[in-house]
Amino acid sequence: MQVFETARDAALALRPDRPVYGFRPSVLTADARDFLSGFRGTTAYAVKTNDDPRILKTLVAAGIKAFDVASPGEFAAVREADPSAKQFYMHPVKAQSDIRLALETYGIRSLALDHEDEVAKILRIVRALDLDPADITLFVRLATKGHAAYELSKKFGAGPSHAVELVERISRIGFKPGLTFHVGSQIEDLDTYERALASAAWVRNRADAEIAALDIGGGFPARYGHDPKRKAPPPAPPIGDLLSEIHSEIEEWGLADLPLIAEPGRVIVARSLSVIVRVMLKKGQRIYINDGIWSSLSDAWTGKITLPARLIPDPARKAKRGGSDKLVPFRVFGATCDSVDILSRPFWLPENVDTGDWIEIGHIGAYSLSLRTRFNGFYPDTFVELTTPFEEDESGKEGFANVEPRGGMAAE
Ligand SMILES: *Cc1c(COP(=O)(O)O)cnc(C)c1O
Repeated sequence: MQVFETARDAALALRPDRPVYGFRPSVLTADARDFLSGFRGTTAYAVKTNDDPRILKTLVAAGIKAFDVASPGEFAAVREADPSAKQFYMHPVKAQSDIRLALETYGIRSLALDHEDEVAKILRIVRALDLDPADITLFVRLATKGHAAYELSKKFGAGPSHAVELVERISRIGFKPGLTFHVGSQIEDLDTYERALASAAWVRNRADAEIAALDIGGGFPARYGHDPKRKAPPPAPPIGDLLSEIHSEIEEWGLADLPLIAEPGRVIVARSLSVIVRVMLKKGQRIYINDGIWSSLSDAWTGKITLPARLIPDPARKAKRGGSDKLVPFRVFGATCDSVDILSRPFWLPENVDTGDWIEIGHIGAYSLSLRTRFNGFYPDTFVELTTPFEEDESGKEGFANVEPRGGMAAE
C-alpha cells in the first residue's frame, strides 16, 4: 500500500478516476486501544462491520484477541488474521453444517441462540462429535427495546420469560448458560443499554441456573459529522466515558460479578477509513461522483448518518476556477445508472467545487467495504495508507456529506 500524509497528497499524486480508500492504521489502533482500555471484559470485535484482512491484522496487532463471527467466511477471516484468536459465534440462527464447522474445525465454544430448536440443533452436533457440553457456553439472546439508528430487536431475541426457560433448559443439559443482547447500532442514549441490562438481571434472578457470562453486544456510537444548519445532535461521548457509565449500570443491576464480553464494531473502525471520490461532472448545484449507495455510502444512506467531507480541488483547473469557497449544498448523484443511486440529502462543499475535483469523505470504516456491490460493474478496491487523522488534516476547508435518506433537498 502506498503511504501518504493526507488524502490531498494521495489525490494529487495519483489523480485517481476511481474511488480510493484512505486507510489510517494509526487511527484504527488508537480507537481499538481506547475500547480495550475502557472495557473491563473481553472485547470481541464484530467482524461484519469490516472484515478486510488489513483491518483485522491491525486490530490483532492493537491487542484485540477475540472476535464476534456469524458465518464460515468470518471464521476463516479471523483464523487467517490470528489463528489463536477466540471466536464467539453469536448469530442466533445457524445452519447445521455451520454449527458443525464451528465446533469441529474452528474449536468455537461460545454460541448464541434465542429458541429451543436451536439448542436441539447444537446438542445433536455436540453429541455426534462427542464433545462435553460443560465446555460450551450457550448465550441466550435477549429481546431489547430502544432507540438505535438501526433497530435489530424485531429480528432476534427471546422475551424475558422465554429466556428464563431457555437458560434452565441449557443448564439442565449440561451446557453453561450465558446471557447476551445486541441493542442495535449507533446507540445514542444510555437508557437503551440500561433497559437491556435490566432484562438481563431479571432473567438471571428468576432462572434456576447459574449464569456463566454476560455479553453486552455492540451498538456503541461512532463520531460522525453534523449539519450546522440543523440542531446539533449531542456529540457522541468519548467511548471511555460511555463504557464507565455502562459499567456503573452493570454494577447497579448486580451483574458485575459475571465475566463480561462486548462486541463493538462501528465505534472501533468508523474513523479508520475514508474514501477519495472524484467529481465526474458538475451541473449547476448538482454533482455526479464515482461512488454512491451501491459502493461505499450505503450504510450512511440507510443509517441517516452525516459524514465529514473535504474538497480537494484539482490544481490543474486553478485558472478557470471561479466562485467562492463558501459552503453550499450540492445534490449528489452516484456512479451507477440506477435512479435510486441519488443521495437524498446534499453534500455541503465549497461553492467552487468543479468537475475533476476530489472529495475525501471521512469516517466510512464501518459497513462500507463489506456492503460494496459489483452492481453496474463498479467496484472500488484501491487502497492507500494515510498517516494524518481526518480531523487533523488542515489542507482544506471541511464540509460534510449529508446522506440522510429523508426528503427536503436544501439545494435547488
Ligand atoms: C452487528 C453486530 C455487532 C456490531 O454492532 P456495532 O453497532 O457495529 O457495534 C455486535 N454484535 C452483534 C450480534 C451484531 O449483530
